[in-house]
Amino acid sequence: MAQGFQRFSRDVFPARAALFEKLATTHRPTALFIGCSDARVVPELITQTDPGELFVIRTAGNIVPPYARGADGVAASVEYAVSALGVSDVIVCGHSACGAMTALASDGDLTGLPAVAGWLHHADASKARTDAGGELTRADRVTALVRDNVVAQLANLRTHPSVAKAMARNRVTLHGWVYDIGTGSAEMLDATGERFIALAG
Ligand code: ZN
Repeated sequence: MAQGFQRFSRDVFPARAALFEKLATTHRPTALFIGCSDARVVPELITQTDPGELFVIRTAGNIVPPYARGADGVAASVEYAVSALGVSDVIVCGHSACGAMTALASDGDLTGLPAVAGWLHHADASKARTDAGGELTRADRVTALVRDNVVAQLANLRTHPSVAKAMARNRVTLHGWVYDIGTGSAEMLDATGERFIALAG
């Protein structure tokens, strides 16, 4: 990591000096990207965005707890991005082979991971949607849950007052994506909010 930083400050930073000089005093991202903490899903890489363009929240399973009063890091970041920074788009991005969704889909034993178990309860509605879809193979069940979880987390996001207000004023658009690690492809929720289609540029 330290060597990587040395490379950054020696090679990368000088080459983009003008961008970093502007960013030193300007923070105006256009989108809020809510993705999984999974190391294989790198928001800036898969969207090919520069520093300063994406405001990012990463949580296990790209989960956004529904709004509740009290200190909540996810809620604070959502509110800041939407109300203070005024992002015009919010993307909730799930991904293939998600550990959180796999644990949930297979009713994995999480007794040794009480914090994870507690956190995943925020995806109970996602699991209920998948369960209602009928019998599936294990792999198909994970795929379905990853998609259903994106839909459920978008619903949770709408419970945040900052998001509800911005949506009522047509100042923000919500998007649901699923990224496939093995193929580098992605799909997006269509206008009906029920079906995923290939992500078009
Ligand atoms: Zn994940």
